Amino acid sequence: MQIEAIPSTPVYYPVQIAAAATARQHLVIVERAEWLKPEQLNPLSDAAGSLFVYLLGNKILRLSTRARYECRSFNDVQSLWATVEAFLSQARMGLRLYVIGSEPFLWQASAIATRYGMTTDSMQLELAGKPSRNVYCIHCRHTIRDTETNLVTCPSCGKTLAVRAHFSRRLGAYIGVQADAEEPGVLPPVEELRR
Ligand SMILES: [Zn+2]
Repeated sequence: MQIEAIPSTPVYYPVQIAAAATARQHLVIVERAEWLKPEQLNPLSDAAGSLFVYLLGNKILRLSTRARYECRSFNDVQSLWATVEAFLSQARMGLRLYVIGSEPFLWQASAIATRYGMTTDSMQLELAGKPSRNVYCIHCRHTIRDTETNLVTCPSCGKTLAVRAHFSRRLGAYIGVQADAEEPGVLPPVEELRR
């Protein structure tokens, strides 16, 4: 099903490293190594500040790119976020953040960066992979991760939720509302989510 786009639905664009004149440090965070294309690192010139690439997954990145960069890979998401937090706590002014991943991954990174004072205009988010969504149950405030269909059963309160187009950036999740609130037991057909 195509979920109707309303203003709160985020729009994502491919990551493009900013010009040297506008940023001194660049941190690229990638959920899966194969989602980073070599040419995405290319516009960086020698005059630019340092470029760091953090990858989830135990892979060494060998990109044929002219850009010089420092790459680190992480076996698990906890150690990735811990290192990102350490990086951000010492970051200089003029840091740009670039994140490539699934929607929950993007907004986790965004939430961490926001805690360290970064603004949305210094971040770029690129959606990759399956169109899964985090869903926030408005009835019991539980967040269900990586939902792939328009209907989902909340494991906390047991209600069947319809995934709405309304997206909360603060929660990094779409809002889920009881699907059969009007007529108990009457549910729309289950469909795969699409972009
Ligand atoms: Zn619930």
